[in-house]
Amino acid sequence: MPSAPGASQEEIRRQNLGAVLRHVHVHGPTSRAELTSRLGLNRSTIGALAADLATAGLVTEEVPTTARRAGRPSLVVSPRSDRVYAHALSIDADRLRAARVGLGGRILDLREATRPCGMATIDAVGPLADLVRDMERAVAPDALFVGGAVAVTDTIRDPAGRIRIGGADDSLGAALGAELAAGAEFAVGDMADIAGLAEHVRGVAAGVHDLVYLHGDVGVSAGIIIGGRLVVGHRGHSGKVGHMVVNPRGLPCGCGSRGCWETEIGEAALLRHAGREPTEREAVLDVLRAAADGDPTARSAVEQVADWLGFGVANLVNVVNPDTVVFGGSLREVYLAGAETVRRRLDEMALPASREHVRLQAAALGRDAALIGAAELAFDKLLADPLNAGQLATGPTEPPA
Ligand SMILES: [Zn+2]
Repeated sequence: MPSAPGASQEEIRRQNLGAVLRHVHVHGPTSRAELTSRLGLNRSTIGALAADLATAGLVTEEVPTTARRAGRPSLVVSPRSDRVYAHALSIDADRLRAARVGLGGRILDLREATRPCGMATIDAVGPLADLVRDMERAVAPDALFVGGAVAVTDTIRDPAGRIRIGGADDSLGAALGAELAAGAEFAVGDMADIAGLAEHVRGVAAGVHDLVYLHGDVGVSAGIIIGGRLVVGHRGHSGKVGHMVVNPRGLPCGCGSRGCWETEIGEAALLRHAGREPTEREAVLDVLRAAADGDPTARSAVEQVADWLGFGVANLVNVVNPDTVVFGGSLREVYLAGAETVRRRLDEMALPASREHVRLQAAALGRDAALIGAAELAFDKLLADPLNAGQLATGPTEPPA
């Protein structure tokens, strides 16, 4: 790992420990020999770093079971997924989810509850804390909790069925921290940003440095990663591509504007074209299934939405010049059903230099993307400074008696 000039020995060691731990966290069990070549450090340094991480209970080191060559086999370093974990939460349009995710990105336990229509994000703290406490009952006493994060969708439906913008309350991270992490604040991120991060670290866009992840549920937003870094904007509100105006004569949008992209490609648009009630979220899969079976109305609904999807993607491709565009949430299924139409529209509209190499991909991690991505945020501090992470959080607190 290259270090900044003038970095102290201690700083260099911290960076190297982080690099080794991050490598096994992302890529899974790796031999010392491979770590040596991947990270560009010498053998004895890797040996010492791995031993320190093992002593801290963050990794195990084992003789590989398949060792055949003569001589001493290179020990395999593995993340302690069973012991080191984060709390990953998500506040979806109509569901609350809580998971314990082990180092290495493994979901160890998962709980869900319904999010009532119109429930403010801050009011989800209590129910989420209950889900977490329920999971905590099964946790071994020597387990190491390193922090938590929550992914929040920015659009919700109120009890009258209207869509409104309802992103994270500023106090959400602190409120969850006070309930669950002895005051250590939970990281908070937009659903599309976090799901995009998950696809970037361990999904369909692993290793891709420039990508646009499009997330569809009740609304539409994007996680944009440029040069390997998530773009969040001045106050964390970038990527609201669902409110990019594409049709000035279109329908009114929940944001107060008219003809926003999400009025043309959101779930309600698909349902409307298919002659279904636009608030009937459960019917989205029915429409897609009917389209696959050749039902003409459903097929036409998919084509119309796919055409508008390609229209907006062409604009995004021109602006961002990504290597890959990933379709997630309910847009994954819409993309798969109308991929040719999306591509045709993109080829018609986007600049050749930007469109020719762009790959269009369906998300790989499904509905767990938000939880896996939230865990990545929660593991950040541990990966930056592995040996001091134990002091970051003392573990979930008991509810007040
Ligand atoms: Zn809008």
